[in-house]
Amino acid sequence: MNKIYNFSAGPAVLNQSVLKAISEASIDYLESGISLMEMSHRSEPVMEMVSQTKILVRELLSISNEYEVLFLQGGASLQFSMIPMNLLNENQVADYADTGAWSNKAIKEAGNFGEVNVICSSKDSTYNHIPKKLEQNFDSTYLHLTSNNTIYGTQWKNFPIPLNKDSYLVADMSSDIFSRPLDISKFGLIYAGAQKNIGLAGVTLVIIRKDILGKVNRIIPTMMNYQTHIEKDSMFNTPPVMAIYAVNRSLKWLSNNGGLDSMADTNLKKATKLYDEIERNSLFISPIQKEDRSLMNVPFIFSGKGSDEDFLSFCDKRGLKTLKGHRSVGGFRASIYNAMPEAGIDALVQAMQDYESR
Ligand SMILES: *Cc1c(COP(=O)(O)O)cnc(C)c1O
Repeated sequence: MNKIYNFSAGPAVLNQSVLKAISEASIDYLESGISLMEMSHRSEPVMEMVSQTKILVRELLSISNEYEVLFLQGGASLQFSMIPMNLLNENQVADYADTGAWSNKAIKEAGNFGEVNVICSSKDSTYNHIPKKLEQNFDSTYLHLTSNNTIYGTQWKNFPIPLNKDSYLVADMSSDIFSRPLDISKFGLIYAGAQKNIGLAGVTLVIIRKDILGKVNRIIPTMMNYQTHIEKDSMFNTPPVMAIYAVNRSLKWLSNNGGLDSMADTNLKKATKLYDEIERNSLFISPIQKEDRSLMNVPFIFSGKGSDEDFLSFCDKRGLKTLKGHRSVGGFRASIYNAMPEAGIDALVQAMQDYESR
């Protein structure tokens, strides 16, 4: 049988060492005779594991004490409302970049809490690039962007700087966090659902600079208040322990393999291989402007006539799974997150070449 490579956009491929660790922990955690899923979140082994996971996050990203690291629930999607609810007063404005479907959802929710100024949009060109001209509002409380657009396959390579020195960046990094080094000090808040690049669905990583809190005058429900989770160290209620353990093992794997610099090199190498083949192959093209192409999600389409179904089934027979493009764009999309080995890219490139020469 062929080796299976899973190009799913999310939930997505995990490293084998992570899968092995979570399967062992689900039967017997650290030879305690008890599954991690059966353990109290207040027990010493679980508290220790969660605390170690935070330390890994802090070490890998060199996060200073001005920031808190939180493990929340509700996915990146709950952050779309939690962010403006905690940070934006009704009479204040926030800048939002519109670079795709996820940005749009964030914009929609923010509009329920304050004024939204959309600083740019690539909607008219089916989100095939990151706009370069930004119409920022000097008075904006923060500037929100989606660092990697999972569906359309664009990625911010450089981040904009807010006009006002009291303003700060807020970023949805669900699909590229831990894929490259990051200067945390540029951001007030970063959030990421874990199931793309760092673990399982059920936990959302939030990195927040503490001094941006406490500035809104509305009543915030306890569970939606960042302050609650900061005070209780992400243990206000039962956290998704197993999902946090998957993050722990993924980050440990990352740290054992050279950390973010090394991961960024590998990711660049993998993506370059695939984009080069898309450029070379007479059958396929990339719909995305070159300089903004994502290193995580690589959409491609037939340059001329071709049957999507036929190519997908050709790949499927070789063990190359979940290459169908998002339903809103069609074509193909290879999601090549940290845990996708280079051999997976090689197998896909080979399939594209064999399909061309049939
Ligand atoms: C998948 C994704 C989301 C949604 O995440 P959930 O955890 O399902 O809420 C939000 N933003 C981006 C960029 C994504 O890729």
